[in-house]
Amino acid sequence: MASSMEAQRKSLPIYSARDRLIREIKTNPCCIVVGETGSGKTTQIPQYLHETGLSKKGLIGITQPRRVAAISIATRVAKEQSVSLGAEVGYAVRFEDCTGPSTKIKYQTDGLLLREAIQDPLLSRYLVVILDEAHERTVHTDVLFGVIKGAQKERRERHIKLLRIVIMSATLDTSSYSNYFNNAKVLYIQGRQYHVNVYYTLKPQSDYIHSAITTVLQLHGEEESGENGDILVFLTGQDEIESMLHTLIQCKSLFPSHWKDMMVLPLFSALPSAQQQKVFQKPPPNTRKVILSTNIAETSLTLSGVKYVIDTGMVKGRGYNPLMGLDLLLVQPISKAQARQRLGRAGRESEGYCYRLYTEESFLQLEENTVPEIQRCNLSSVLLQLLAMGIKDILSFEFMDQPPEESLIAALEELVLLKAVNKEEETLELTPLGKRMSSFPLSPSLSSCLLASVDYDCVVELVTLVSLLSVDTVLYTPTDGREKADLARMKFFCPEGDHLMLMKIHKAYQTSNEKKSWCHDNYIHARNMSTVQDIRKQLKEICRQNSLQLTSNNDGERLRKTLLCGFFRNVAEHVRDGKYLTVLSRQEVFIHPSSCLFSVTPPPPFVMYTELVHTTKCYMRMVSVIDPKWLFEIAPNYFHKTMTTNMIQD
Ligand code: ADP
Ligand code: MG
Repeated sequence: MASSMEAQRKSLPIYSARDRLIREIKTNPCCIVVGETGSGKTTQIPQYLHETGLSKKGLIGITQPRRVAAISIATRVAKEQSVSLGAEVGYAVRFEDCTGPSTKIKYQTDGLLLREAIQDPLLSRYLVVILDEAHERTVHTDVLFGVIKGAQKERRERHIKLLRIVIMSATLDTSSYSNYFNNAKVLYIQGRQYHVNVYYTLKPQSDYIHSAITTVLQLHGEEESGENGDILVFLTGQDEIESMLHTLIQCKSLFPSHWKDMMVLPLFSALPSAQQQKVFQKPPPNTRKVILSTNIAETSLTLSGVKYVIDTGMVKGRGYNPLMGLDLLLVQPISKAQARQRLGRAGRESEGYCYRLYTEESFLQLEENTVPEIQRCNLSSVLLQLLAMGIKDILSFEFMDQPPEESLIAALEELVLLKAVNKEEETLELTPLGKRMSSFPLSPSLSSCLLASVDYDCVVELVTLVSLLSVDTVLYTPTDGREKADLARMKFFCPEGDHLMLMKIHKAYQTSNEKKSWCHDNYIHARNMSTVQDIRKQLKEICRQNSLQLTSNNDGERLRKTLLCGFFRNVAEHVRDGKYLTVLSRQEVFIHPSSCLFSVTPPPPFVMYTELVHTTKCYMRMVSVIDPKWLFEIAPNYFHKTMTTNMIQD
């Protein structure tokens, strides 16, 4: 077993560059490594450095934009090193730390390394920091660019051991990285890539999921030869993946008996590691794997056996409008660079096929490269973290690409409103509350209501509520069983809204004996619900570290008021026919169909939401009824200024 693993490692394209890589990384303070997805960058380079003895002097840290990738790659590398996961090779992601005193190679999310830098801005435990998947330009990676560059400089000045920096990317456009890191050396790894045939649709598709299902079924039905090419479908998120999974599994029962079997596997961030690993396993004989994935499989994870790629052309990404203060998760078109990466996934082992579910014309209209996330997201979390690291002069922080000034100002205003920051003339001062907020791995709004619960004596309840809001959803709604699910969950209905409903569900879950079957009977997401329990544990631990008393009170009005302390800007008032306007920016919003308040008549006059999604319209996804008077109590300064006419009459 070990020797076959060894042979596989040696067969990777990167192996022939091993000595050169080790030499260059040892002699240059900064290196940029570019190579095709699958060439072995992520799994091999940390091992090379470890095997050459570098890790004796400090940790080798590798960041990944996504938790799935961090976990799955660490699992693989532990296997290659024949050690147990969490020993020499470990990983750390938000709410989960699987490392130990002997850990030398640590895979982690970029967000987590940024958190670590709050405690230790010089990253002194690390000898090497590898920022992987740099081309994705996540906001955390972008901020880390500046943080590690600063740490390297400061360590040099203070004669602390050199921090070695490696930036890895799957795309060739490296000049901006090299310039930024003092003309860092760029190392190219030769990859393997076979020809991929591309097909476009003739007409734009109105429903890309439907087209994706049809394409999978056609491919599966047409190809009768013994060839066993797997199919990889790119979708935008967990809900889409689960609904397509469900439909395909139903279709399977209608397959003629001479067809191959089909093994449909989901792949997205919230998936537990054991299930993630399935996508790497060989399917049983005469079976085709169909992997339904978010853009995680674009460059982070390499799946073997894929011959067909179905590209919906869409991705879920962050969007932000600082002027309106709207933070959105948007399903948006990918860039040309992403489309090329997706296509490449089909040609790793032999000639492949890529079905783009959009027209060639639409492809030509796509943006060349993905816009860095830092230019299109809410920066309040990042700003709070930078301040907590002691970086006060935010406007002169060295970003590779500067975020828009209005985003920085909006983020600052948010932090001032949440009382995390004092703005005295020119200087920014983190308040003790702000310092505490920064110790929670949560958005400033969520940590703000969690800390407000101290004054409202309901810390335990807010820990639970915040945990429930930290997973995608705890409601399980199959596409063809919406009515049944709604019916089963009717008993949890709360006229006060979704947040109290979640609390009610959680309470029932806790008192149930058979959690799994209880979840099944009530259409509750068992997996996400168990993640909620892990998150609660961790948040309670952080509360303890901050000496917060775990007080408890489950009065519904109190809980909503506490929540409002972090979300008082997310208030909307009903205008007519279910249409709401946000109090702050007069933006048109609607209650999401999944909300328990969706069909309540008459619609509640004032609501607060904790999440906004934009599909066909702007939808408030987690909604609670509020009394506008609470706003004057909770944020008197703010609601003096922006009162609406209705509220004044009130
Ligand atoms: P890169 O970072 O250059 O894209 P990786 O280091 O991620 O490449 O992958 C190198 C090889 O290791 C790939 O061929 C991939 O198939 C294999 N590999 C990675 N993770 C796993 C896993 N969990 N199980 C089996 N093979 C894996
Ligand atoms: Mg990689």
